Amino acid sequence: MDGFVVHYHEIALKGANRPLFVRRLKENIERSLKDFQPVVSILPGRLFVEIRSRTFDNVRDRISNIERLGEIPGIANFLPVRRSPKAEGEADVLINFKKVLFEELKSKRFQSFKIETKRADKIFPKTSEEINREIGALVQKESGARVDLENPELTVFVEVLPKEIFFGFEKIKGVGGLPVGISGKVVVLLSGGIDSPVAAFRMLKRGCRAVFAHFHAYPYVDYSSQGKAKELVEILNRYQGKSKLYLVPFGDIQKEIVLSAPEKYRVILYRRMMARIAEEIAGREKAKALVTGESLGQVASQTIENISVVESAASLPIFRPLIGMDKEEIINSAKDIGTYEISIMPDQDCCQVFMPRHPATKTDIKSIERAESGIDIEKIIANIKLSVVI
Ligand code: ATP
Ligand code: MG
Repeated sequence: MDGFVVHYHEIALKGANRPLFVRRLKENIERSLKDFQPVVSILPGRLFVEIRSRTFDNVRDRISNIERLGEIPGIANFLPVRRSPKAEGEADVLINFKKVLFEELKSKRFQSFKIETKRADKIFPKTSEEINREIGALVQKESGARVDLENPELTVFVEVLPKEIFFGFEKIKGVGGLPVGISGKVVVLLSGGIDSPVAAFRMLKRGCRAVFAHFHAYPYVDYSSQGKAKELVEILNRYQGKSKLYLVPFGDIQKEIVLSAPEKYRVILYRRMMARIAEEIAGREKAKALVTGESLGQVASQTIENISVVESAASLPIFRPLIGMDKEEIINSAKDIGTYEISIMPDQDCCQVFMPRHPATKTDIKSIERAESGIDIEKIIANIKLSVVI
């Protein structure tokens, strides 16, 4: 193994954004694999990640590299490869390739195979089809195995560059999407629940960097929701590298809402305050949008009416990437991302405190503004004590 060839979805790359995308992806890979001293080179339509660390032949390190590449947004798929020694001219490039390929095939047992060639650069005179046939015939002769294009036991992925050839046997699926950082920063309102971590992941995959805000009612409740938020952030950080988690003490603010507003509006007023405070955090962080895990109709506060009343408390856009998803789809996604097991642990969420018996399902902005009129919102925002962890 000499390293990895990394592919991205070409379709996401329009015109001038392309070099930006590729450079960002290169940096993100370098950061994520930094313990292994990777050297990432930009090739036509793909990246090559060369691993120089001497421990690389160690199986554990190899697995750890594969795991990390599998978590980097922007990578559509990648393959562990060997690389043939560089040469000038088609004939010598192919000779070098065949030598390394047959060395590698010696340790493989297979009854059927196929060769799947891609030319990174159309400068190479032979077409992919011609290379498939030429190498296929040789492998058949040497190994006695038959060619099976539908269901081969072994696939040889061949990537041809002008002076060298990369090849591998296993194409591994990546996260897809865009590299983190390319779309700007967002503040994710992260509860300890199932939905908001999935919403965060969706935005990371669209190239956002996420900063997290968790609202807690400690000491009115125990510490559990904060502990969960931290663990969730640690998992989500696998996909984006380091980030920040803001912990917002929210219990006293809830108490003030409870004392001065009608019971049925409490949840909406909590949410509006959360949106305002998250917007403060966005200001500090130069973030351009807020993100929540709401999905239409899931609970009383997530009707179109209530969502628009909450929305009007903030001036930044609020993204709700799960708005059209069913709970089951969200749960499956949480399992894939790795957040589900933490999300289902019991906790004491701030919203459970002073929960109304009959929350209003359809509020309107006039009644809500009236309900808020006894609350000194500016003072609350000015006095808020944020702490940043992680
Ligand atoms: P989740 O599974 O993310 O908790 P939910 O289905 O429980 O969502 P709600 O409790 O109504 O729905 O919360 C809606 C959204 O509001 C959450 O997805 C999250 O973005 C935000 N939110 C709710 N509670 C908190 C909190 N304590 N801290 C930060 N954000 C919160
Ligand atoms: Mg919740």
